[in-house]
Amino acid sequence: MAETIFSKIIRREVPAKIVYEDELSLAFHDVSPQAPVHVLVIPKKPIVSLDAATEEDLQLLGHLQWVICQVARNLNIHETGYRVVTNCGADGGQSVYHIHYHLLGGRTLAWPPG
Ligand code: AMP
Repeated sequence: MAETIFSKIIRREVPAKIVYEDELSLAFHDVSPQAPVHVLVIPKKPIVSLDAATEEDLQLLGHLQWVICQVARNLNIHETGYRVVTNCGADGGQSVYHIHYHLLGGRTLAWPPG
């Protein structure tokens, strides 16, 4: 897949406010936050989107959801609640083609999305 800004963040070539890291994943604040807490959780493996994930990635996808919960807890939004979003492809509004989960919280979020 084509190189993205997220690969550069993983390699520390582009700065980011990192809130969590392990051997498989990284979480950092979104540069353009849409809520008081807006963190992106990504795998270090460069998967293009949810649609590009394969059966081989099942455990990794589960791990990312576990990481999201840890980050929500660390940032103290686990009791008030939060939303987890992955935009997939053009109609989904994806702009960076390295799979990522938006973790949004710290305010009441409207539904449905636009
Ligand atoms: P999406 O539109 O779902 O692909 O989300 C991509 C997200 O990446 C957007 O919310 C951007 O604000 C965010 N983003 C882009 N570049 C950076 C960066 N250098 N550091 C942190 N977040 C970024």
